Amino acid sequence: MADAGAHQSSRSRDLDKLLLRPGHLVGPAFEPGTELRDDIQEYARILVVGAGGLGCELLKDLALSGFRNLEVIDMDRIEVSNLNRQFLFRLEDVGKPKAEVAAKRVMERVSGVNIVPHFCRIEDKLDEFYSDFMIIVLGLDSIEARSYINEVACSFLEYDSNGNPREETMKPMVDGGTEGFKGHARVILPGITPCFQCTIWLFPPQVKYPLCTLAETPRTAPHCIEYAHLIKWDEVHSGKTFDPDNPQHMQWVYSEALKRAALFSIPGVTYTLTQGVVKNIIPAIASTNAIISAACALETLKIASGCSKTLSNYLTYNAVEGLHTKVTEFVRDKECLVCGPGIFMELETSDTLKMLMDKLGDEPQLLMSGVSVKHGGKTLYMQAPPELEALTRANLSISLFKLMEESPKGILHVTGTAGKPGKRQSCSTKLRVAFKGVAGIKDTDMAGGA
Ligand SMILES: [Zn+2]
Repeated sequence: MADAGAHQSSRSRDLDKLLLRPGHLVGPAFEPGTELRDDIQEYARILVVGAGGLGCELLKDLALSGFRNLEVIDMDRIEVSNLNRQFLFRLEDVGKPKAEVAAKRVMERVSGVNIVPHFCRIEDKLDEFYSDFMIIVLGLDSIEARSYINEVACSFLEYDSNGNPREETMKPMVDGGTEGFKGHARVILPGITPCFQCTIWLFPPQVKYPLCTLAETPRTAPHCIEYAHLIKWDEVHSGKTFDPDNPQHMQWVYSEALKRAALFSIPGVTYTLTQGVVKNIIPAIASTNAIISAACALETLKIASGCSKTLSNYLTYNAVEGLHTKVTEFVRDKECLVCGPGIFMELETSDTLKMLMDKLGDEPQLLMSGVSVKHGGKTLYMQAPPELEALTRANLSISLFKLMEESPKGILHVTGTAGKPGKRQSCSTKLRVAFKGVAGIKDTDMAGGA
């Protein structure tokens, strides 16, 4: 420790092997040298979304991989049940914001790294906040949160007149996920590799047992628990809602499940399993988080430096029986409304914002209702909250041409509920609008086509 320089060089020794030497497996724009290493340390800003099991590992791994400008966003506070795997937290931290404690602990241990914590919801930040980062790394456990970040990151993407994504507008994401002994790591380069929405079908629906199985032919301990939870509870407590956070309710379901299990000679019903099944808790395994995080940190370093080609593009890890890893190359959904060039719409200069919103309802690809509209960083109309709706309502009767500062064409971001009846879901897409009869506009100026 006496010689700070020697200490520093020994710490970057492994990194130097990747960044200072040429090689055969490097990315196309790779330029080895100390300048590259120093630039990554000085200028690369990385956002980690989530400071839970994966987030703690990611912050540590990224800090040790040479990144010095990290930020982390998480809305949760530390709970006792986190401590077995979220290794940056101690008993005295219970109740404190995860992002703040995680940032502090890594900075204490890794000299030279600066981590800015954000203790808030991901939706509380403006889009500009996210556009400031070189790479966004996701350590999340919810599909909704991933979809949200994916929509924000893809909204920065622009296409050139040939319909190719413009690289300088691309916001790379590295997404990790774990579930018990299984996990995945993926690289999302919007416009090139599939975005989260392109492959949303990868997420299976939650396990649901047919009610007839529960009622007539239970075979497993979860069947007995779900019988007590979904059927017996309502029979006995007419009208009273089951509260999974009420220990008395949980105890009741547990004892009913035990009776049911005894009747059918089914072993394995415990209080912990009852909680797990009813609250749909997936056990978290510390080593799975560590392995997935390591893969994500490495991919982040590869994107930032070009020192190797990134994985293409979806790694799965499965240690349920033995150990199996595999990389699958998924392809983009060309019709994807989130990462594609968006929908083209030609408008009259006199068309109001309200008329555009009505058109979105008739547009066969969208059938969109409950629409909110943004242009650049500006909100033109918001459905909710009521205060924002009231503030933006006056725009509805103003011509869109005027709202878009009389530019002949431009990109709007619209969100709402879209799809055919029975299949409607929330949707966010880009709208490329052009105004008829405004000088200088040809259809070829607009990428793609409707
Ligand atoms: Zn997509």
